[in-house]
Amino acid sequence: MRASIAFSLALALGVALPRAQPVPVKTLDIYVVDVEGGNATLFVAPSGESLLIDTGNSGVAAVRDADRIMAAARAAGLTRIDNLITTHWHGDHFGGLAELAARIPIRHFIDHGPNVQPAAAADEFLQKTYPQIHAKAVHTVAKPGARISVAGLDVLVVTSAGVTITEALPGAGGANRYCSSFTPGSNNAEDPMSVGTYVTFGRFRTIHLGDLTKNKEFELMCPSNRIGTVDVLLGLHHGVDTSNSEVLVHALRPRVAIMNNGTRKGGQPEVMKTLHSSPGLEDLWQMHFSQLSGQEYTVPGMFIANVPDEPLVAMAVAPIPAPPPGSAAPAAPAHDGTAYWIKVSARTDGSFTVTNARNGFSKQYVASSTRN
Ligand SMILES: [Zn+2]
Repeated sequence: MRASIAFSLALALGVALPRAQPVPVKTLDIYVVDVEGGNATLFVAPSGESLLIDTGNSGVAAVRDADRIMAAARAAGLTRIDNLITTHWHGDHFGGLAELAARIPIRHFIDHGPNVQPAAAADEFLQKTYPQIHAKAVHTVAKPGARISVAGLDVLVVTSAGVTITEALPGAGGANRYCSSFTPGSNNAEDPMSVGTYVTFGRFRTIHLGDLTKNKEFELMCPSNRIGTVDVLLGLHHGVDTSNSEVLVHALRPRVAIMNNGTRKGGQPEVMKTLHSSPGLEDLWQMHFSQLSGQEYTVPGMFIANVPDEPLVAMAVAPIPAPPPGSAAPAAPAHDGTAYWIKVSARTDGSFTVTNARNGFSKQYVASSTRN
């Protein structure tokens, strides 16, 4: 009664009643930046501290990709990058590093150690450029089981230099039923060296394994699943079929996967079948349409962040075969114009929102009470 009198009085006097202020929800924001089938994934904790995983492509693409990472950093209000993990020494992962370092201070450089796949560009970068860039900062060679300090997050290195953690994470360690049907894969030398990180923010859990390949996925996940389950699986080695075995993808039971593929890199049928059949997967989000998926295997366009500069008027139903590495295949459709990220905003209760910056499509994933 007293409240209704106060309400009537307030109405009569034209006074705004005091209301409970909404408590601002502080989120972990993850920007999956489009670097055209390379990797650049930026984590920004509510504390303002940041972790960037990889810096996009080398050569003429380095300026473009560093600018795209800067756009995400600015959107997040960053004036520095606190931690930069370079997962491995391939040009689609360290390529924009020097350009980025010229644009924003980077305080801590993390990598797996020396390059093990001799390549002129990587070797020259490691001999001449990288030491100069990290000389004024902190440089760490990542070790499995070590933590990277990001206030408000728990960031654990789970793979580096071909070595995986040996102990299961708390609550994990159960038998992995996919191990018995595992088929070993082939790979180059550097992909299996990838620094892999497992990040938790309250009850929210995500993992980014760089370009870790199938045989290392097996070492990490078999015979027992040392990781457990995750809410979001990031990276997926661009959706390439030398990675993404069931021992990893199905056992992690991600609710959402975000694939950093290119227009003609990753998204092959084998990978898409593994993802589409992954238990508990609610959605796959992609950085690009992939011609290697065709309409047969792709997800709806609302879950895809980028289109080529020349918009595709039609997409073939059938997937096209991936061009062999180093082949003289015609160039993939170019995308040097406006690039869009996919953003994850995660809350400590385990709920999260994923947004496609191209079309504004956003989806809420409520906290699950049934997951461990
Ligand atoms: Zn790569």
